[in-house]
Amino acid sequence: SVPASIASALSSSARKGMLFKGGAVIEAAAKTHQIAFDKTGTLTYGRPVVTDVIALGDYTDHEILKIASGVEAGSSHPLAVAILRKAEIEKITLPKSDGAKALMGKGVEAIVDGVPAWVTSPKYALSSNVITDKNMEIAATYERQGKTAVIVYRKNEPLGLIAMRDEPRKDAAEAIAQIKQLGITPIILTGDNERTAAAIADGLGMEFSAGMLPEDKLEHIRIMNQKGGVMMIGDGINDAPALKQASVGVAMGSGTDVALETADAAILRDRVTDVPAMIRMSRAAMANIR
Ligand code: ADP
Ligand code: MG
Repeated sequence: SVPASIASALSSSARKGMLFKGGAVIEAAAKTHQIAFDKTGTLTYGRPVVTDVIALGDYTDHEILKIASGVEAGSSHPLAVAILRKAEIEKITLPKSDGAKALMGKGVEAIVDGVPAWVTSPKYALSSNVITDKNMEIAATYERQGKTAVIVYRKNEPLGLIAMRDEPRKDAAEAIAQIKQLGITPIILTGDNERTAAAIADGLGMEFSAGMLPEDKLEHIRIMNQKGGVMMIGDGINDAPALKQASVGVAMGSGTDVALETADAAILRDRVTDVPAMIRMSRAAMANIR
C-alpha cells in the first residue's frame, strides 16, 4: 500500500495543478540532481514574435514574408505560428503551397507557387551552401540579442532573414534561483543556436547546450542519467523521447497532449516555479516516510 505521506502529496499536488503518475515518481523526483529544460514553451512563453525582416537579395519584406508564410502554412511550430501571424498583420494573402515537409530541428521546405522554397536555421542554410559567412554574421547580430533568426530561400537563392523573439517567462529567473538553492543544477537543452541560447541562459543564470537535434537531446539525457536523478521539463512537441529517457519526465503547459502520454508528471499551469515546488513536495513526502 502507498505510504500516507505519499498519498497525501499526490492529492495535494494535484489540487495545485502538479500531477505525479504515482508514488514511484515522487520517490524518483526527490532524488533529482539535475534538471534539463527545453527552452521553447517552458522557460520562454513559446510564442515568438517577428521583430525584424531583413532582405538578403532583391526582395521586399512583403515578398519575403509571403514566401515564408507559404512554406510555414502547414506547420504548427512556434516559429511558423509567429511568421503566419506577422503575414496576417501585414494582410498578406497566402500563396499556393503544397508538399510541405518538416526538417526536424532544422526547418521546413515546401513548394510555393510552384517553386521549392525553404525556411530554415542559418546553420542549415549555410551547410546547404545557400548563404555566405557574411549572411551568417547578420544572423549572429540578432542572435546575440536573444532572438532566433531563420533564412527564407529558394534553391541557391537567399531571399531574406526573419528574426523572432520569444520572451522568458516572468517567473523563470526566480524558478532557476530556487532550483539552485535546492542544490540542483539546471541546464537548457535546445535546438536553437548557441548565441540565442547563451543570451537566454545568461539572463536566467544557468548553463546550456545548444544546436541540439531531438536525438542529441535524448543522448545528452542518457549521459546525464548515468549520474542518476535527471528531471527533464519539456512542452513535448518534439521532446517526448527525451522526457521518456529522463528519470522523471515532466510535461509543462498547455498543448502537451503528446507529452502527457510519455511523461511521468505534468505541470498544468504555466508556472516555472512549480518545478522547484514539485521537488520540495517530493522531498517532504519522502522525509515523512522514514
Ligand atoms: P527547440 O529546442 O527550441 O524547441 P526545435 O528543435 O523545435 O528547437 O528547432 C530548432 C531550430 O530549427 C529552430 O531554432 C529553427 O532554426 C529551426 N526550425 C525548426 N522548425 C522550424 C520552422 N517551422 N520554421 C523555421 N525554422 C525552424
Ligand atoms: Mg521544440
